[in-house]
Amino acid sequence: MTDWLIRNAELVNEGRRFHADLRIRGQRIDEIGNGLNARAGEQVFDAAGLWLLPGMIDDHVHFREPGYTAKGDIASESRAAVIGGITSFIDMPNTRPATLTQDLLEDKYAIAARSSLANYAFYFGASNDNLDAIRALDPRKVPGVKVFLCESTGNLCVSEPAALEGVFRDSPVAVLVHAEDSRIIHANLDRAKAAYGDDIPMRLHPEIRSREACFQSTKWAVETARRHGTRLHVLHVSTEDELAMFESGPIAKKRITAETCVHFLLYGDADYARLGGKIKCNPAIKAASDRDALIRALADTRIDVLATDHAPHLESEKANPYTSCPSGIPLIQFALQSALECVFRGDFTLERLVEAYAHAPTTLFAVEGRGFLREGYFADLTLVDPAKPQIVRREQIVSKCGWSPFEGDTFRASVAATFVNGSLVARNGKVLDAPPGTRLAFNR
Ligand SMILES: [Zn+2]
Repeated sequence: MTDWLIRNAELVNEGRRFHADLRIRGQRIDEIGNGLNARAGEQVFDAAGLWLLPGMIDDHVHFREPGYTAKGDIASESRAAVIGGITSFIDMPNTRPATLTQDLLEDKYAIAARSSLANYAFYFGASNDNLDAIRALDPRKVPGVKVFLCESTGNLCVSEPAALEGVFRDSPVAVLVHAEDSRIIHANLDRAKAAYGDDIPMRLHPEIRSREACFQSTKWAVETARRHGTRLHVLHVSTEDELAMFESGPIAKKRITAETCVHFLLYGDADYARLGGKIKCNPAIKAASDRDALIRALADTRIDVLATDHAPHLESEKANPYTSCPSGIPLIQFALQSALECVFRGDFTLERLVEAYAHAPTTLFAVEGRGFLREGYFADLTLVDPAKPQIVRREQIVSKCGWSPFEGDTFRASVAATFVNGSLVARNGKVLDAPPGTRLAFNR
């Protein structure tokens, strides 16, 4: 494989921005310094004017394989990821079959070993009756257990109180929750159906999957985690109301952490008029005031991790009336660029974005050898051109579903190049011939 010398980049890492050169030898970062000279056989990448970031680790994606591969698969969505500067992903268990046994988990790893351009890991799913399998998980091999506290795509809801308590009490790995209260949602939905039939206006989605449903469920999860000392990670926080339950500070010191997703930083309820079912997702995108509060909480570390919740559906499905329009948005290809818009707007710094999208997930799961620009670490790298705008057009979309909520939007920055394990895997929106990514290891 080619060794690289990346010259004249502006590195962003561990709270600092500085100009330096970075040498890649084999799969790893060999040297970071100024005035490095190319050695024989090394290829030089002139990165003058570019930002060099640790490759983003997206800890919340739905790549749909196995079982829903018309919407997306690990090959297609990992290509979209690396084009967008995301070098590792952790995928959710609500596939078909759902990832509820060790064998099914290893089946997914085997698919990824053949087909994923990015590095990968897979969560284990909780059900009403697989606590013994959860107890037996190896923390070095499995990042966490995903618990759906309500119905969403794939219907993995854990409804038995004893089963839920058991997961919080006994899981040897982090417990990740989708926190919304089913009873509240069903009551709201019944009221809306009585008024509108199946054709409920999309703008009512945040009133059906309401802030109260989020608040009550997150409150239950946080209280239960405190009682058992669980390592809890609350996924896709979407309301201002929930933020009081989280504390700011370094992620390494926390037992309870929070994630939000790019769409909650970009959209508010006014956007349903323009984008309709395209931005229908669970939990729902809520008010502009929630968006502003989530931005502040990401900036001040009450929210630790930024992810996508990339969840592709077919465009035809998304055009359905409310009750048959599936929830979820394809985001991963443009997630970094869309989050950079928040940086350009002054919502938070570039250093903070890198922390939330690369360092924090690395620390949360003790990902081995990635997530930072450090000598000896894997060369998972993203080069961003902050002065090259991109208008999103349909023909650029690599996600299998073939559409994006961002079509027609202009991003101020572009992803110039992505390296995974020292190989240049994508450049200027095109995937290159490169070896598959590798399985993430967890150093704990
Ligand atoms: Zn999700």
